[in-house]
Amino acid sequence: MASSVIKTSTRTFLKIRPPLNLQSTQRRPQASLSTQKPIDTIVAKEAPNISAARPDGFSRPPLARLSTSSIVRNLLLSAFFTSPVLFRPAFYIFEKIANSKSAWLNPDRNPLLRAAIHPNQAEIAQTSSEIRRLGFSGVVLCYGKEVQVQGGNRLVGYANSSVDTMEAEIDQWANGNLLTLDMIGEGDWLGIKYTGAGPRITEALLQGGAAPSKFVEAMDRICDRAASKGCRIWIDAEQQVLQKTIDQWTFDLMRRHNRPGKQALIYNTIQAYLKSSRGKLQHQLELSQKEGWRLGIKLVRGAYINNDIRDRIHDTKADTDASYNGIVEDVLRGHFPALVNRQDTNLDLLLAGHNSESIRRATRLASSLAAQSKLKVVPEFGQLQGMAEDIGCELLQMADDVKKQSTSPPADRYTPKVYKCLTWGSIQECMQYLTRRLVENRGAASGMSVGAAEFRKELFRRLTGRYA
Ligand SMILES: Cc1cc2nc3c(=O)[nH]c(=O)nc-3n(C[C@H](O)[C@H](O)[C@H](O)COP(=O)(O)OP(=O)(O)OC[C@H]3O[C@@H](n4cnc5c(N)ncnc54)[C@H](O)[C@@H]3O)c2cc1C
Repeated sequence: MASSVIKTSTRTFLKIRPPLNLQSTQRRPQASLSTQKPIDTIVAKEAPNISAARPDGFSRPPLARLSTSSIVRNLLLSAFFTSPVLFRPAFYIFEKIANSKSAWLNPDRNPLLRAAIHPNQAEIAQTSSEIRRLGFSGVVLCYGKEVQVQGGNRLVGYANSSVDTMEAEIDQWANGNLLTLDMIGEGDWLGIKYTGAGPRITEALLQGGAAPSKFVEAMDRICDRAASKGCRIWIDAEQQVLQKTIDQWTFDLMRRHNRPGKQALIYNTIQAYLKSSRGKLQHQLELSQKEGWRLGIKLVRGAYINNDIRDRIHDTKADTDASYNGIVEDVLRGHFPALVNRQDTNLDLLLAGHNSESIRRATRLASSLAAQSKLKVVPEFGQLQGMAEDIGCELLQMADDVKKQSTSPPADRYTPKVYKCLTWGSIQECMQYLTRRLVENRGAASGMSVGAAEFRKELFRRLTGRYA
């Protein structure tokens, strides 16, 4: 069944570098997409070995592990994405192609376009191994189908549905996810979006109620396969009209697949931009404690601010930042109400995002609590491939330095683990997915200059042997 997915449509994957939102001065997106070469840019051995005094306390510049071509590419991309003159027309053309049904413009139908884009699944394996070689702990591979709800009930974004029953849509989607699992290995993750199972499942999510049995069977098959491969699964959070049901269906999955005292297989997602986010976490902790299963949480800020019920979202960016950072701090310290006075928190936490301040705060706090044997939950990190390369490399350098230099016993050391997230699917599915990410994050372009400054400094260091 899985191979039919390959046969029925041409598949490819994207390295997504959409810009993030502007509001914070810590944005550092390197936005681009490419379906061509995998990260040619991240071959550590190309980086020159320059020794000089380190102003940031690391034993080696964090960006030193990237190749010079990667540094240059990141700089070029940030120049492109911060220039309205270049970005707007390119985005217009990209969006037209992504949504075209024309046999000429649709890249999945036009053999010339398809050939130009060179879809190649082998690149996923190659990219994954390069990501690991750089020091990342693994990849998160997502199958790029999704549906979004506009204007309350209009469903958009499901390209080329060639089947006309819910069962067939679920089968197609489940096979895509099983195929995705075939492409990853032990320690990696599968990222799942329920709306990827099609418009009919999205309708069911909108209506609420129990998951259709076909969907439950498909998810159980996917979970069993992931468990047998030593992979974990995260379930994406989506729009609020869908999220209540997404949570319910995910609790059912966690009831069946997450065992107490054992690392969680399934992670649910909480969006810190929601005013209800702390309450949601408290509820989910209490539920898992009462029913005796382990809770896995992916914490994000939230991606749907431009297309969702605004008054349920924090009023300002600063409030969302405080919500995110506050949840992280209370969980790591074990101060979250449901965690107080518990020997075993029975909680796993993945922090997804690119905000450097949040990431640095979390790692600093985790290190200091670990040194005092007070770290209650060990955070891991998830970032999109091609984004936040500088902060990602900083975490890797920190991990290297902890391993090399720390004299404290391993239990009292915190070594961050970072995973890079890739999305794949048919070319048009990926283009539509990327278009939506670009629209969601369209305000971010000017913030890219902060990340670009780090790359410029690294380039200067390589050229002169000195720090800028
Ligand atoms: C690996 C990974 C997985 C993800 N999975 C999901 C997912 O399942 N579901 C999901 O919804 N998102 C998901 N996201 C996207 C995420 O929610 C953010 O949109 C994105 O990461 C940008 O936020 P940031 O934390 O990186 O930092 P920043 O760029 O500092 O924060 C930008 C975010 O701040 C919030 N914000 C911006 N302006 C305002 C304002 N005026 N008022 C209130 N809040 C504001 C928004 O959430 C915005 O996205 C994921 C991101 C990553 C990296």
